[in-house]
Amino acid sequence: MSQHFLLSARARTLSLRKIFSLSDDQAFEMFKQSRWGHHDAICPCCGSMAKHYFIKTRRQWRCRDCNHTFSVTSGTIFASHKLPLKVYLAAIAIYCNAVKGLSALQLARDLDVQYKTAFVLAHKIRESLMAQRDETELDGEVELDGAYVNGHVRPKNKKADRVDRRLAENQKADKRCVFVMRSRAEAGQGGKRTLTFVMKSEHQAGVLKLAGRFIRKGTTVFADEAPAYDPLHAYFPTKRVNHQVEYRSDDGVTTNMAESYFSRFRRMQYGQVHKFGIMYLNHYANEAAYREDNRRMSNGEMFFDILIKCAETRTSRDFGGYWQGNKRLMEHLVH
Ligand SMILES: [Zn+2]
Repeated sequence: MSQHFLLSARARTLSLRKIFSLSDDQAFEMFKQSRWGHHDAICPCCGSMAKHYFIKTRRQWRCRDCNHTFSVTSGTIFASHKLPLKVYLAAIAIYCNAVKGLSALQLARDLDVQYKTAFVLAHKIRESLMAQRDETELDGEVELDGAYVNGHVRPKNKKADRVDRRLAENQKADKRCVFVMRSRAEAGQGGKRTLTFVMKSEHQAGVLKLAGRFIRKGTTVFADEAPAYDPLHAYFPTKRVNHQVEYRSDDGVTTNMAESYFSRFRRMQYGQVHKFGIMYLNHYANEAAYREDNRRMSNGEMFFDILIKCAETRTSRDFGGYWQGNKRLMEHLVH
């Protein structure tokens, strides 16, 4: 058997040591290049590409046309940054290397910043991944599946005190279903592209709505025996496998690529994040999808990919001033 990808030298093209030894100027150049490539700075306020006046001591520009003063992070997810730019690069590097996700506490210890700082920083990276995800239609062969989180009800010590955990009234209010649609790569190559959504439960209306919006007509879909997938037969060539009997049916029907996604997602839950806040559950689900789909990308490539995504994402509405009280008020749920 050939060597595992992560053991090969090709997988290691990023050095955390190098990131930490960058000078402030080098970190600034890296940010500048990730945002504008080899262009000069472009004003985020009026879009002017003129040669702007550079205020060297502040590493900021003054727009030649509208007089707006802007920095290399203005208008991006890291706008109004307080820490040295190098720390943001290090955060992205540490985030890339954590193949099963990263808890805010761990990031806080690695960077020696407050928990609150690390929490917001990691969430801004997740928000960029979400904002930049490819939402074009999935095609070829697509697998669908759902998994539940935050649903565990701890049984009482005495048997007499225990409740029937199957009943709706005894279930947790925070219980959510992470729903996944994953297209397959060529045979033997695993999954290709994964889209994740959050629902209250695996229900027919939600499944139909998402399949109609994100799966190209004529695509073969694969699902398990859950009744939520029954209406799909009317719209797509649909194949089912009964998981109460087998993982793979005799004619080769599986949803194993969707299960692979959940495998990584569960490891992120059990080993790193532990409890998903439901308000941002879609970000966590998408993070696992990004890691799963880019599992064969070297950490150096992933570093630049995420850095560019951060530069392309507009200033966060959910995490700018989070600890000052600015928070998302509504979950992003599919009804
Ligand atoms: Zn301007």
